[in-house]
Amino acid sequence: MADKSFLAWPFFDDRHRVLAAAIDDWCAAHLPVDGRDVDTACRELVAKLGRDGWLMHSAVDPEAPGVPGVPGVPGGAGGAGALDLRALCLMRETLARHQGLADFAFAMQGLGAGAISLFGTAAQRQWLKRTRAGLAIAAFALTEQKSGSDVAGIDMTAARDGTDYLLNGEKTWISNGGIADLYVVFARTGEAPGAGGISAFAVPAEIAGLAIVERIAVMAPHPLARIRFDNARVPAAAMIGRPGEGFKIAMATLDLFRTTVGAAALGFARRALDETTARARRRQRFGAPLADLQMVQAAVAEMALDIDAAALLVYRAAWSKDMGAARITREAAMAKLFATERAQRVIDKAVQIHGGDGVRAGGIVESLYREIRALRIYEGASEVQKIVIARQTLGG
Ligand SMILES: Cc1cc2nc3c(=O)[nH]c(=O)nc-3n(C[C@H](O)[C@H](O)[C@H](O)COP(=O)(O)OP(=O)(O)OC[C@H]3O[C@@H](n4cnc5c(N)ncnc54)[C@H](O)[C@@H]3O)c2cc1C
Repeated sequence: MADKSFLAWPFFDDRHRVLAAAIDDWCAAHLPVDGRDVDTACRELVAKLGRDGWLMHSAVDPEAPGVPGVPGVPGGAGGAGALDLRALCLMRETLARHQGLADFAFAMQGLGAGAISLFGTAAQRQWLKRTRAGLAIAAFALTEQKSGSDVAGIDMTAARDGTDYLLNGEKTWISNGGIADLYVVFARTGEAPGAGGISAFAVPAEIAGLAIVERIAVMAPHPLARIRFDNARVPAAAMIGRPGEGFKIAMATLDLFRTTVGAAALGFARRALDETTARARRRQRFGAPLADLQMVQAAVAEMALDIDAAALLVYRAAWSKDMGAARITREAAMAKLFATERAQRVIDKAVQIHGGDGVRAGGIVESLYREIRALRIYEGASEVQKIVIARQTLGG
């Protein structure tokens, strides 16, 4: 039984407590889904999360009507107002605790549609009606072979051609690549060198000239692809924000979602601790439960401490944003760095305390061990988060 005492912290309002209980109940009733075919599983998860109203928390649509029965959003609506980052984090933490793939399916609807939610025109926001209802799957296409951590170094181009733009180049490591209906794509439009010359576009998957050239298999499977654009034509109205604002748009989106990556890590860590305490109480060694061994107790204490400290940083960042902070660059970087690194440590201890069963393929802690690893790399590797924190701390 996961520790819920953090919900009493002053970071939360009562609607968050209602939401946390409701999504936990939903997860207990609907998860896990069969994840052997990740494309099918993700489509199913997005459809279910949309049908039952949970995707309303993934991105804000200012024009959306209320959704009766969806708790946790002002007015019980699920529509208007600013993004509730605490709700988004609670959703991710809870989904991740139950099934990593469910968290992935939920999170990508937010990351993929995030730029449109924050900077899109009324016409582009039509996409939100579909992504928030689970009727369209979204992807965020920033990374290229040559530029992962070095985001400003992207090569893909968007050249003006009359009233259109022609997209040319490749994106790789694109989550939902292959099953997405919408790609938010960042490409060089050349207003300035480096970060100042990038723009963002909302690109429907079915346009001519867009192809999936490689499906990428990873240790914790989810849909992932390298995609190519060959003279793929989009109208100028597909541009999100103004020419040259793409880097700013990507960073503002990542600011929000980095905090939620920390929340997902927290969910994995909590599950690892739950599995460990249950095992340590149950497992008899040397004539007593493992839980009676002092070194096991020390490991459990360190796991609990790491989890609470990570939760404080994650919900401090989310609370700061919800209280009106314009940017939470430093808080989000701290939350992501600490929560993901410490979750890895927590899960490693869980594997150790499970003994041989900890590395048995298909076991829960074994899958958590694989699930957590990529979170320390994507949306800014841990080293990049340290650079962000150092810059913010040193100033200038
Ligand atoms: C599972 C998964 C899903 C992903 N999903 C998406 C997605 O949906 N959309 C998208 O656009 N991208 C996605 N990515 C890409 C991800 O954002 C990049 O992998 C990440 O930014 C790192 O880039 P890279 O892989 O090119 O590593 P590199 O940039 O080559 O960096 C390699 C390593 O070098 C170190 N390093 C890098 N820079 C520094 C530095 N300045 N100082 C010190 N050390 C440094 C870090 O340890 C880093 O991990 C995904 C990646 C993974 C693994």
